Amino acid sequence: MDCIFCKIVEGSIPSSKVYENDSVVAFHDIQPAAPVHILIIPKKHIATMNDVAPEDHGLIGDIFAAARHIAQELGIAEDGYRLVNNVNSHGGQVVYHLHVHLLGGKKLGPLPA
Ligand code: C5P
Repeated sequence: MDCIFCKIVEGSIPSSKVYENDSVVAFHDIQPAAPVHILIIPKKHIATMNDVAPEDHGLIGDIFAAARHIAQELGIAEDGYRLVNNVNSHGGQVVYHLHVHLLGGKKLGPLPA
């Protein structure tokens, strides 16, 4: 499968990892949209949130637990941050391997409509 995020999971293309456990990997976005911009992905290939099966629900919890941990580690938990998941074309999804953006490090603007 030709998936860039699967290659990051395998380590066959480089990334700036900030966190990894048995089920998820997190790394700096190459085009940061905020002073802190981390992508948190499941190691398992799941294309979009629409493709999350009941047996994957634990992975969604793992992604959010990782986000909370990373925000604490990076010192942005108290000021706050935003978690974003883009789905398909109208959601602005570009990479079809499920990922949650963790954005912070400044006061973020309102959500785009
Ligand atoms: O949610 P969406 O699919 O639009 O976001 C994909 C994100 O993956 C982009 O923010 C892009 O900068 C990032 N990316 C990355 N490393 C890559 C390819 C894409 O951080 N090698």
